[in-house]
Amino acid sequence: MAKRNAHGRGTRLVEAGRRVEWTGPVVNPPVWRASTHLYADTAALDECKHHNADGHFFYGRRGAPTQWALADALTSLESGAVGTVLYPSGVAAIAGALLAVLKPGDVLLVTDNAYEPTRAMARGLLARMGIEARFFDPLDLAAFPERFCERTKAVMLESPGSLTMEVCDVPALAAAARERGAATIMDNTWAGPLGFQPLAHGCDISVMSLTKHVGGHSDLMMGSASAGEKWHARLRQTAQALGHVVSPDDASLALRGLRTMGVRLERSTASALAIAQWLRQRAEVAHVLCPMLPCSPGHDLWQRDFTGGCGLLSFVLAGSDEPARSRFIDALELFGIGFSWGGFESLVTPFDPAPIRSRTNWPPPGWQQADRLGVRLSIGLEDTADLVADLDRAFAAMEPR
Ligand SMILES: *Cc1c(COP(=O)(O)O)cnc(C)c1O
Repeated sequence: MAKRNAHGRGTRLVEAGRRVEWTGPVVNPPVWRASTHLYADTAALDECKHHNADGHFFYGRRGAPTQWALADALTSLESGAVGTVLYPSGVAAIAGALLAVLKPGDVLLVTDNAYEPTRAMARGLLARMGIEARFFDPLDLAAFPERFCERTKAVMLESPGSLTMEVCDVPALAAAARERGAATIMDNTWAGPLGFQPLAHGCDISVMSLTKHVGGHSDLMMGSASAGEKWHARLRQTAQALGHVVSPDDASLALRGLRTMGVRLERSTASALAIAQWLRQRAEVAHVLCPMLPCSPGHDLWQRDFTGGCGLLSFVLAGSDEPARSRFIDALELFGIGFSWGGFESLVTPFDPAPIRSRTNWPPPGWQQADRLGVRLSIGLEDTADLVADLDRAFAAMEPR
């Protein structure tokens, strides 16, 4: 294991999870489609009840080598993790992590730029269970400690934030939470383990939507939560209580995606950065929200804490109206209109964060009030020049303004 961790990222992506007891003589673990696991005799059946861990056959809900190999691979990429639990979607992983940590009467602090379904979960499902969610401004470090009370038991972080891409000071926020006895859960979907290491920066649970970079091909949905000794056991118990399981076919696809995640991310990151630089020169664009871009908000913290980026960025139109934004988006030919991101193909979605923020303002202080309509791009693996030409044509289609 120690030897494995000494390797570079590319090598680790190739080696991760490929235990010979799960792969046999072939390169990839076979797809073990199984509900029932069979035992040689009643003594073997009795024996299996003593082991509740990946690597031990029991019943389909606890997975088989295909799922174990994926979980093991993700654990080996997350420094500080002893194990990883898989979920049927990223949202299920967020729910699984929050339910593992919280109980009725607890208070949860949620970053104001959280993924919208995370907010909805806090306000709906968790509120019904008697868990109170309070939102906070992730960039206001001075005000953060004031948000805590005796009952605060967890903090939910996401960096960069969904849609608006603010990079927060994860080590400082996580340290403040730990001092006050609260567990920090971080949604690390944007950077993934190659770009950011939540546990090494003080978080307790690292959550990811595998639907995005790990799957990488827009053909599967899955989530994961990785943690150290303390929380891994709770995550596992909670997921088992909820009956979460992922199909071996999807686990096999996710493992296939994982092998090429490094090269895909390098390519889409470089392309996204070039496009961000091009967007910054455009008169139609008031702000480019891309932490990898020097001068973009959050770039300093991104440089300090992150080791990689991805193809997801946003920009804000200069004083535009919604019909003009729709003309722009509808004129794009290489960007599909749709949710999700991290696939090989480029995507575009309009956004307006104002109605889904409670502690921060949109537009942020210092911006023109008219500069508020957002566009999010997920840059895929097409040629950058073709994507730029497509964007250029679509800006022309925005006229008359
Ligand atoms: C997409 C997304 C999720 C949810 O993942 P699903 O697999 O679609 O359920 C969670 N967090 C972030 C930041 C996301 O972008």
